[in-house]
Amino acid sequence: MARVAVVGAGLAGLCSALALADFGHDVTVLESGPAPGGQLAYGPQPFTLPAVLRDLFRKTGRPLERELDVVPVDPAARWVFADGSEVTVPNASPSGARRALDQAFGAGAGAQWDAVVAHGDRSWRELRPLVLGHAGAKPAPPGGTLRDVAASLREPRLRAVLESYATRYGADPATAPAALTVLPYLEQTFGVWTADLGRLVDVLAGRAAERGAAFRYDEPVVGPALDGKRVVGVTLTSGETADADAVVWTAPPGRLADDRRGVFSRVRARTARPEPPADMADVDVDVDVIVIPRAGRPAAPTAPSATPSVRFPAGSGPATITYDTPEGRVRRVAPDAAHGAAAGRVTAIFRRPANVTRVRGLYLAGAGAHPGPGIPLVAQSAAIVADHIGRA
Ligand SMILES: Cc1cc2nc3c(=O)[nH]c(=O)nc-3n(C[C@H](O)[C@H](O)[C@H](O)COP(=O)(O)OP(=O)(O)OC[C@H]3O[C@@H](n4cnc5c(N)ncnc54)[C@H](O)[C@@H]3O)c2cc1C
Repeated sequence: MARVAVVGAGLAGLCSALALADFGHDVTVLESGPAPGGQLAYGPQPFTLPAVLRDLFRKTGRPLERELDVVPVDPAARWVFADGSEVTVPNASPSGARRALDQAFGAGAGAQWDAVVAHGDRSWRELRPLVLGHAGAKPAPPGGTLRDVAASLREPRLRAVLESYATRYGADPATAPAALTVLPYLEQTFGVWTADLGRLVDVLAGRAAERGAAFRYDEPVVGPALDGKRVVGVTLTSGETADADAVVWTAPPGRLADDRRGVFSRVRARTARPEPPADMADVDVDVDVIVIPRAGRPAAPTAPSATPSVRFPAGSGPATITYDTPEGRVRRVAPDAAHGAAAGRVTAIFRRPANVTRVRGLYLAGAGAHPGPGIPLVAQSAAIVADHIGRA
């Protein structure tokens, strides 16, 4: 049995703690805030690939669906354009999307979008093993930029939709990889889902505690404590070291940047945010408009209330995304917070720090590490780390 310190009790920390406690390790979660959940407290979030969460639940106890309702978001989205036109996109129905697009933009628009989804299918086949299975993947994304793919679309409103898959991550479509077509592909093929994320947090934390994990809140961690190139614990703000044989760091890796011992400056170099091009400079304030409930935690979202409305501006510039919940208030969120580090270069989205570091016993999980941000990928980072550490 190893003593494992998990830093952060967001989704990555909770999934890591549960999987590792279930493997029989002595797990302590150190969270700087007063409660678990991290970014999941921001309200209803649609997500793809629920299979990743399903896998964790199945391996550690009662199946996911026995613990909470995972419901399809239907329709998947409402796209609103500056000229007043609108399209309501059904969930997980390529044929339904084709019909809706033909109806809104004229015959043939659906076929144009089908070509995007087919591109996403090809990209996913290349990326899937690297995204879902590799501890230190640095995949080379399929060639070209998202703008190249968009340029092949005759319908300008579809070009705007496709490019929004880059701008919502703070990336420039002119440099973002063409392989971002995996996002519409995953949405339309495997569906968009939602759940009461507050309940998800409670179940994960409760199950991890049942398996013996200890939670320490209001406990900000300064950094990992090292002995040469081996981790020996974490340093707390009191100066005390909490001893550990392994550390799973799920706080933003940028927090490691102040470390002067060399190892983490390399992490920083790899995660440093590239300068955005001039026309993307205002992306931080405009990319995401999210409605969150006043109470802090989401009421169990119903499928229609979680349908995001995506509004495309008349000129160039990022789309805004709004979730319509009756009790909500508008909150602007920078892409750094919403989706991990923004990326200006073609490869940056696919080049996050590996889950296994060069420091023995130090692992990175969460939105800032491989394979990236968002509920399924963050949960997958925890699965990769847990599998790497292995059973006690
Ligand atoms: C508004 C918003 C909308 C989103 N929409 C979607 C969506 O529609 N679909 C989707 O799939 N994803 C969405 N996401 C992204 C998704 O929520 C995140 O990628 C995911 O929750 C990140 O989990 P995490 O554990 O990596 O990080 P976090 O949730 O940020 O957890 C990190 C934890 O570490 C703690 N911490 C930080 N520093 C320290 C320290 N020094 N010591 C101890 N603890 C520390 C923090 O308090 C936090 O609890 C959205 C995010 C936001 C904010």
